[in-house]
Amino acid sequence: MLNLPHTTIESCTRQDNDVSLKLHLLNEEASCPHCKKLSSELHQNRPILIRDLSIFGQTTYLKIPRRQFYCCDCQRYFTESLTFLDEGRQYTRRYEEYIYQQVQSSSIEQVSRVEDLSFDRIEGIFKHQYARKKTPDGQESSALALMKSASVKDIKTLPQLSATLKLGS
Ligand SMILES: [Zn+2]
Repeated sequence: MLNLPHTTIESCTRQDNDVSLKLHLLNEEASCPHCKKLSSELHQNRPILIRDLSIFGQTTYLKIPRRQFYCCDCQRYFTESLTFLDEGRQYTRRYEEYIYQQVQSSSIEQVSRVEDLSFDRIEGIFKHQYARKKTPDGQESSALALMKSASVKDIKTLPQLSATLKLGS
């Protein structure tokens, strides 16, 4: 139901219009960021509460295990990285994506009201997402590369496209 890899819902609690889902991680091993080897030596687990997309109109939080493993090869501790959560963030990646899109089609004030989050928090999410998208290999440079590599055949279709755009405007 969650559509998040290696997770299942352990329990669910409701309070007012908030719903909290306690997650269980199905993978028993995590990859060491230093040597990339898998470790099953669980050292400690400190769950964190993360905001996710609303479910049935209810503000939704996930209680996610934050697990620290020990790598025998490197003799170091490391925190498991989760594909759906950026390091140090209080929201799932998909929730931040959603906020980013919502802000683009309305405003920070409007999204702040709807999501019941402060202006600063919405702005923080927007800036974080903007920075993520503006990496050296981001959209701008790849779009430019695509234009540069466009064949003669592609270029021939361009006047038609611009004509269509003019009609549209
Ligand atoms: Zn290691």
